[in-house]
Amino acid sequence: MLSTGTPPTIAAIATANGRGGVGVVRISGKNLLPFAQQITGGKTPEPRTALYTDFLDAQGNAIDNGLLLYFTAPASFTGEDVLELQGHGGQIVLQMLLQRCLELGARIAEAGEFTKRAFLNNKLDLAQAESVADLIDASSQSAARMAVRSLKGAFSAQIHTLVDDLITLRMLVEATLDFPEEDIDFLEAADAKGKLRALQTQLADILANARQGAILRDGMSVVLVGAPNVGKSSLLNALAGDDVAIVTDIAGTTRDTVREQITLDGVPIHITDTAGLRQTDDVVEKIGIERSEKAVQNADVALILVDPSEGINKTTRDIMCRLPAHLKRIEVHNKIDLRNVQAARSDDAAAQSLSGADTVISLSAKTGAGLDLLKAALLQQIGWQGESEGLFLARTRHIHALQTAQAELENAALCDNNHIELLAEHLRLAQAACNQITGEFTSDDLLGVIFSRFCIGK
Ligand code: GDP
Ligand code: ZN
Repeated sequence: MLSTGTPPTIAAIATANGRGGVGVVRISGKNLLPFAQQITGGKTPEPRTALYTDFLDAQGNAIDNGLLLYFTAPASFTGEDVLELQGHGGQIVLQMLLQRCLELGARIAEAGEFTKRAFLNNKLDLAQAESVADLIDASSQSAARMAVRSLKGAFSAQIHTLVDDLITLRMLVEATLDFPEEDIDFLEAADAKGKLRALQTQLADILANARQGAILRDGMSVVLVGAPNVGKSSLLNALAGDDVAIVTDIAGTTRDTVREQITLDGVPIHITDTAGLRQTDDVVEKIGIERSEKAVQNADVALILVDPSEGINKTTRDIMCRLPAHLKRIEVHNKIDLRNVQAARSDDAAAQSLSGADTVISLSAKTGAGLDLLKAALLQQIGWQGESEGLFLARTRHIHALQTAQAELENAALCDNNHIELLAEHLRLAQAACNQITGEFTSDDLLGVIFSRFCIGK
């Protein structure tokens, strides 16, 4: 499927930047045996067998020693010949190994280029290729489990079943087109409309799973609002609980204290404490604050913390005014342990909202009482139904394609026997939308966008 000529040999450091026991340089290209012989000083590696060897520079001096793995086309990740040089995990020695690969005729791989070649050589479909990146970027164990499922083809299999059924129906309908006088009997006898309804149900199920998967992939964004000392930091810690995977450094930034990421029932929750949003002259802090302001604008839910005995003070009211109108609000009455516990738990449902929020929850960040109610309310706000077998880590791209297919099926269902051509056309468009997901008919532009978001070496 590669367009013209022999694709160049590509090489990249495949392990993460930093120090590690082992570091891997990966090479993919056509006929890499001579390459392997040159870098090992004339050894001939057996395919799929680890060869313990020195990796040599042009003068025959050892750059490093380690294991060489040799995969011959097409039985490799990319579908080409692949070499893996497993050396020691230091950045200098890996750079020297990579440099040697360039001397031997490789060029540095672009982001996602290995996976792109795997796709172009039919080793993976597009949804599977995307799941490679999703697995690497997974921010919770649930997300990682979903990504592996997609990588192994679970999502693609659902799409293929759907497309197969669509094709069967299209054949039925198009056969009717060829015999116009018989159309009414034929469509009815074949129960075309019934088959179409079944397809719509099938698609609706996939879409529902995809939406759940998207929640797991993208998570939810929450802002904490409340006066000083009302218990925002304590609540954040309580929510994080014994979650070992508290991510404090968000990609590309130094740690800023106003943002945290926790995981609730596998869903990544990005939390911004608006207490950090104050006036400052410090440049670095200003950047952090601007980023937080953005987080507030893009948030899904605001948690408004109040001490019911004190009400809402001016600072809290000021911040509340700046919250976007679409934001869902949950009012939290903290420190119930300081009040009459019996009363606090039982008057839960009756607690009056001071901020106008629909949901009010009384809890104690200190003792943890009522925390389960808050967690449930948060997950309910975004419609999370819990991890289940059918889920996959859908991307917006997948959801849009499924929605397009759904709209086309709805249009198809409106076509009566006088509009069989239109019916056929809607079914064709529905199939085209589904095929976009697995990449069967996908433009080069889209491929460029998808693979450029990978990191180098993948
Ligand atoms: P923030 O300024 O809103 O982040 O508030 P903190 O989380 O720093 O809490 C302020 C004070 O209130 C601390 O001394 C906390 O230990 C205390 N606190 C927070 N939540 C509770 C609670 O639920 N019960 C009690 N008794 N004290 C709490
Ligand atoms: Zn705080």
